[in-house]
Amino acid sequence: MIERSLVLLKPDAVQRGFMGEIIMRFERAGLKIVGTKMVWVDKDFAKKHYAEHVEKAFYKGLEKVITHGPVLALAIEGVEAIATVRKMVGGTEPKSAAPGTIRGDYAHVSYGYADKQGIGIKNLIHASANTEDAKKEISLWFKAEEMHSYKTVHDIHILE
Ligand code: AMP
Repeated sequence: MIERSLVLLKPDAVQRGFMGEIIMRFERAGLKIVGTKMVWVDKDFAKKHYAEHVEKAFYKGLEKVITHGPVLALAIEGVEAIATVRKMVGGTEPKSAAPGTIRGDYAHVSYGYADKQGIGIKNLIHASANTEDAKKEISLWFKAEEMHSYKTVHDIHILE
């Protein structure tokens, strides 16, 4: 039941100075950062990460958002971490993301506004949707030797 999820702090989160704030939320939940790196991805890499969306109408805006600056990639480990992280991240559209979630607290823009402006939706963060995606995404973003196994206080105070 211990899972790993791929989380990306997108360029809007990095440029707005929310890296520490967002990482703090995951750490306070007792989740463990087991890999991290800053990467400025190009269009080819973006297409690999968002392969399922490349043909969609919103892809052009999404590509612009994700290649706009460096991304902080995190591999996050914990009990059913994929669902827990998604819960903390909130819904895709910031306007409808619940308060208390990362997107609900730090963004507010709607699909309607973004579509009207012809821009991608800036929703701060990506999180793997399921175990299959998590596995694929972690191996796309991290080499095996960039992933770490170590003990934290949470292993004693939360997991035992
Ligand atoms: P997902 O694979 O569901 O995480 O979606 C990837 C990203 O595509 C989201 O984080 C949004 O940035 C963007 N996205 C997804 N659905 C839409 C949509 N209906 N309109 C605009 N952008 C979207």
